[in-house]
Amino acid sequence: MIVFDIITDKKFLHQKCDDVSFPISEDDKKLALDMVEYLKNSQDKELSEKYGIRPGVGLAANQVGVKKKIIAIYFEENGKVIEYALVNPKIISYSIKMSCLDSGEGCLSVPKDVEGYVYRYYKVTVKAFDVITNKEITIKARDYLSIILQHEIDHLNGILYTDHIDKKDPFKIIEDAIFI
Ligand SMILES: [Zn+2]
Repeated sequence: MIVFDIITDKKFLHQKCDDVSFPISEDDKKLALDMVEYLKNSQDKELSEKYGIRPGVGLAANQVGVKKKIIAIYFEENGKVIEYALVNPKIISYSIKMSCLDSGEGCLSVPKDVEGYVYRYYKVTVKAFDVITNKEITIKARDYLSIILQHEIDHLNGILYTDHIDKKDPFKIIEDAIFI
């Protein structure tokens, strides 16, 4: 069982991460896979209670103290597991249409949820090296996966979801945005 100490220090989280150089070291590969494993375990009620960890669907390496461009994603949708261990992920295109989670976003590094809408691109295409399949991949994402990818890639650029919330009008409605 992998238990990470999740960083909540905003000063650290607001720093950008560095590109991972290729060939990817065994340590970096292990970290990426451990991060996916951590997310998977965090969603297991018994394990999350036993180890006192919050359930999460995405994680960036700087959240576990490593300033490298590595993110992990793990969730189940319609009985299907969606999992990625991505190195140097990059958004190569995005839709004009925006979307937003109805309930707002949350983050393992933000212990107390901050309320408000976080608008993101409805669709994104992301290029990255995936450690799970051990190859360069292109992900065409929409809906929930698109939002998670953008949330995690933001982390690598030193941006938290709370940075996106309009301080004066946290529940501002953007016309045409798709609420998920
Ligand atoms: Zn986060």
